[in-house]
Amino acid sequence: MIPMMDLLKQLRLSGLAEELPRLIEEARQSQLSYEAFLTCVLQQEITSRALRADQRRLRKAKLPFISRIEAFDFRFQPSVSKRLVQELASLQFLETATNVVLLGPPGVGKTHLACGLSLKAIEAGHAVLFTTLRELAQVLEAPRQPGQHDPLRRYAQPKLLVIDEVGYTRLTSEQARMLFDLVAARYERASTVLTSNLSFGEWGALLGDEVLATALLDRLLHHAEVITINGRSYRMRNHAGADGPASS
Ligand code: ADP
Ligand code: MG
Repeated sequence: MIPMMDLLKQLRLSGLAEELPRLIEEARQSQLSYEAFLTCVLQQEITSRALRADQRRLRKAKLPFISRIEAFDFRFQPSVSKRLVQELASLQFLETATNVVLLGPPGVGKTHLACGLSLKAIEAGHAVLFTTLRELAQVLEAPRQPGQHDPLRRYAQPKLLVIDEVGYTRLTSEQARMLFDLVAARYERASTVLTSNLSFGEWGALLGDEVLATALLDRLLHHAEVITINGRSYRMRNHAGADGPASS
């Protein structure tokens, strides 16, 4: 008879191959019926496939770090509504293609919250992509090889796109135009989480075009939750006299 492990390999059930000796031993001890044992084995394969899919989505999302909503200290940052963030964590906003804009100075937890929402979405089975405006601007502008996919599509498609650090990079008119195209492509289709240290009034200078900035903000903010964080930098929390917006 062909050894069982070879059969599992042929069927690409490598997750099961690892767990099977344990499952067989448990089935022996609790004298499971054939039906109960087979159910248990199939369930194990489904569980390990779901876990692998989770890990794959997490890798593809390219989060800069892992931070959870549950680890966010709302007492430290009273300007952030715990109720609103918890409501966002339920992911209802993804169903209505609502955007989330996190505004505030460095260190107040914008990226933390963006990653926390991303993790929730990944765990719920959604495709997520995290990027910074600098990276986005470079990728969208890079000359395209013939036959290469339109890079805009890569950013337009995920259920959740995070654009972090809007404001540190000034855009050329070509880049500004592409950012507008991206926001327009996702408008009312899929949610974008955007973080920025700028107020909306400064977007004209960021994009080098007041009219384009108005049109972009119009689409971005039509269905959006805006969270303005005006507390202290969490990074500087143990520094004496670190009140007010800190620079990093
Ligand atoms: P920002 O993106 O606003 O500059 P970050 O989200 O990168 O700030 O936060 C800086 C660091 O402080 C991160 O490690 C983050 O996890 C942590 N942090 C910020 N705010 C909080 C908070 N209220 N509770 C717990 N950790 C926080
Ligand atoms: Mg940040």
